[in-house]
Amino acid sequence: MTESRTTDVDVVIVGAGFAGMYELVRMRRAGFSAIVLETADDVGGTWYWNRYPGARCDILSVDYSYSWDPELQQEWTWSERYAAQPEILRYAQFVADKHDLRRDIRFNTRVASAVWNDDTHRWTIHTDTGDDLSCRYYIMATGCLSMPKVPDIEGTDRFTGEVYFTSTWPHDGVDFTGKRVAVIGTGSSAVQSIPLIAAEADQLTVFQRTPNFSIPARNGPISDERLAPFLADPGAYRDEARRSAAGVPRETPMEGALMVSDEERTARYEAMWEAGELLGITGTFSDTMFDAESNDTLRDFIHGKIRSIVNDPEVADALCPTNHYVGTKRACLDTNYYETYNLPHVRLVDLRKDPISTITETGIDTTNESFEFDAIVFATGFDAMTGAIVGVDITGRNGLTLKEKWADGPVTYLGLMTSGFPNLFMITGPGSPSVLSNMMVSIEQHVDWIADALVHVRERDLDTIEPTELAETRWVQHSNEFADMTLMPTANSWYMGVNVPGKPQVFLPYPGGVGRYRATCDEVVERDYLGFVLDGASGRTVNDGIIRELKPDVQVMLETMAEMELPPIETMGVDGARAFMDASGAMMPPGPDVGEIVDGTLPGADGSTLEYRLYRPATDGPHPIAVYFHGGGWVLGSATSDDPLCRYLCVNSNSIVVSVNYRHAPEARFPAAADDGLAAATWIADHAVELGGIPGQVAVAGWSAGANVAAVTAQQAKLAGGPSIAGQVLLCPVTDGTAKRASYLDNAEGLGLTASLMDWFWDHYCDPADRADPKASPLLADDLSGLPPALVVTCQFDPLRDEGDAYAAALAGAGVPVQHLQCPGQTHTAIPAVDAMVTSEYARAAMADALRSFSGAGVTSGV
Ligand code: FAD
Ligand code: NAP
Repeated sequence: MTESRTTDVDVVIVGAGFAGMYELVRMRRAGFSAIVLETADDVGGTWYWNRYPGARCDILSVDYSYSWDPELQQEWTWSERYAAQPEILRYAQFVADKHDLRRDIRFNTRVASAVWNDDTHRWTIHTDTGDDLSCRYYIMATGCLSMPKVPDIEGTDRFTGEVYFTSTWPHDGVDFTGKRVAVIGTGSSAVQSIPLIAAEADQLTVFQRTPNFSIPARNGPISDERLAPFLADPGAYRDEARRSAAGVPRETPMEGALMVSDEERTARYEAMWEAGELLGITGTFSDTMFDAESNDTLRDFIHGKIRSIVNDPEVADALCPTNHYVGTKRACLDTNYYETYNLPHVRLVDLRKDPISTITETGIDTTNESFEFDAIVFATGFDAMTGAIVGVDITGRNGLTLKEKWADGPVTYLGLMTSGFPNLFMITGPGSPSVLSNMMVSIEQHVDWIADALVHVRERDLDTIEPTELAETRWVQHSNEFADMTLMPTANSWYMGVNVPGKPQVFLPYPGGVGRYRATCDEVVERDYLGFVLDGASGRTVNDGIIRELKPDVQVMLETMAEMELPPIETMGVDGARAFMDASGAMMPPGPDVGEIVDGTLPGADGSTLEYRLYRPATDGPHPIAVYFHGGGWVLGSATSDDPLCRYLCVNSNSIVVSVNYRHAPEARFPAAADDGLAAATWIADHAVELGGIPGQVAVAGWSAGANVAAVTAQQAKLAGGPSIAGQVLLCPVTDGTAKRASYLDNAEGLGLTASLMDWFWDHYCDPADRADPKASPLLADDLSGLPPALVVTCQFDPLRDEGDAYAAALAGAGVPVQHLQCPGQTHTAIPAVDAMVTSEYARAAMADALRSFSGAGVTSGV
């Protein structure tokens, strides 16, 4: 019996894989005392435990390696594109030797529990060796794929033959020669090991529940061409990896799979198949992970390959995944995987047709058959992302345990920390890019961020750091919104926790990409640790806040625009701005098909000819009519410039939409547009029957300056005693040219519509002296009573938000029935982008519903 010891250190790190090893280096460099605790008897983590035949990385080794030691990059040369487990383990050991890491690592030590003491501001860590440690900071470097899934097959304990788990493979290897072997599972571990087990075993039977997508790894020495960019400038290469989507420098595809010809698409998929790189699979086209139809083209291509390799059509069929989209479960790289099923002694059992009923003393029984085996290999995966973290009994402030807190799924801020557990950090925790990336890049970024945070806390004479509940709740929401834009949540994957019975089903990693995530973490720091509470001797700072409020698709759109480094529209001149608007409109998805489109003209207020485009539903008429006024600041746009939104409103409200090209400034300044609005509405009301509409059911609608025209039209129609307007749908309306409210100043730049562009529009349209006229600023009308019912839609990140909100409030105050839809996280330009911006779909649906309701047809979906 040895006596238990308590050791006091600044930092305890749990886990001596690549994360824990680098964290130790950073702690030492920063001058913290640190100890690493590790269950295994050496470093390496994943590469210590997973020693099954064929185990190797599936990210090229040149990428899947540390970047923090420039010397190491020169000293170590990988023998293959994808190094095998022994080589990766040797690499980890080499690093441990080089940096003398083992002296601060306690091996053969499992952390059983950790308890926060709110008086001392320290963690007490209990280990299975009986030793306790007291530390200020507690860092879980316990790995995302380190807790093997507990077998969930009846009778597992009964089998008297040899039992192996790929995740804890015997160190001295296994000889399957002459044996009848079963492999359960067909994930990455199985796909790698099956060909090699088949090469030895007398018989191999693979039990497959879900087939996986796999492409040939084409392993071997890396080509000079592939290595060249790294050798040319390792620093620049690593930087690119850090800013990339998945932690590997790759060109971002701009085209969707359906945007190219069938021949071109097949050619690109063939090139991907030949290249043998994991990220190439879903990285050939821009929309593979977002669009089911696009993904189906990839699925069909891979199915074709499987069928061309596997001789028996029935086996080939069983190996073709059909119940999930490519990439929604982690895809695989293989060496002769599909070919293995052509060997006479290899058999595939399709558990979807014939499920396992029990494991017996001598083998496996399925519903229809009994199998006898000498050995069973469980390649059944992991309790991923959270298993190893809640595998330690962690008790935070006020006795709350992490298991309790995460009962419905993990809640973290940036995947790094969770509130109620001060000074507890997770490396590649749930809510960070982690398993969706080259993990070496993600590990290094987290380690660096944590190290910098601890130095920050120390330098300010503080001793605790902890996220706020608001910050973490909204981070989880942001991450989920990103996931919901993709096909990822549709699969029964371990990303969703579905593989472990009883585990809450939530999307675990952050799907927004490595580069974007890094920028977010950096911004948190730049904004003085936004979303964190820092506490200690020098005082307590609560910097509560939300780091990402924009909806993810809006954020991506703005990033794309920013990358284009376009000059401000107002510097392009009127003709240039019009050409730009036409060109950018042409790049948007077209919107749905309508029954009929008719182009025509109608008389404007001054007798001039105004073009219109009429969108008719495919249903039998007559229909209610919406007179639609396009956006574009009274200067830009046309009858067809809001085409996708008009189509959408037509189809979803079952109304005729007539989009009118009112006269534009500067050629026709105020009040031309306003007057044309009334003239057009009057003419359309008068010609409702000819147009196929229902007389008396004419509403007005518009976006931005077009919403201004619509609102003014409703007011002028009231004053003029006609036409009768059934309702008004005002999307981001301009309502007051005389005041600059807070939203005008807060959202002045970088969000699509800028304050200076809005000023440019006003200056072209209307003299300052005229702006108080309600025909320019409908909010300033003396009397808003008696106006038709309205839906006013405003967006959080729009300079025009507050004047739109004010108009909704003023209408309501005047007794007008108003629905006011305030859209969080949306910008001025997001909602008209039909099929491009999915997070604003509800707002478009509300607009269509409002048009229906004006015509008495009722609302079909909630707002
Ligand atoms: P790990 O390597 O998992 O190390 C965690 C360590 O913590 C383990 O050694 C474990 O024993 C220890 N530990 C856990 N709990 C406790 C406790 N309570 N007490 C004490 N010690 C504890 N990622 C890629 O990016 N590319 C790849 O090609 C790739 N291939 C993979 C292949 C396999 C077979 C597997 C399983 C994963 C693969 N991964 C890959 C993911 C891989 O896990 C990471 O790349 C990386 O190795 C994780 O390093 P880590 O230090 O974070 O965690
Ligand atoms: P996995 O992908 O989760 O695969 C587990 C397999 O076991 C699945 O086919 C699963 O079927 C099956 N399974 C689980 N429980 C079962 C049951 N009760 N009955 C029948 N089948 C059952 O696990 P993994 O292969 O170990 O890989 C996990 C992750 O580690 C990978 O996704 C990857 O990120 C990483 N990894 C990488 C490599 C590499 O190439 N570098 C190699 C290995 C692992 P269902 O799909 O139906 O659940």
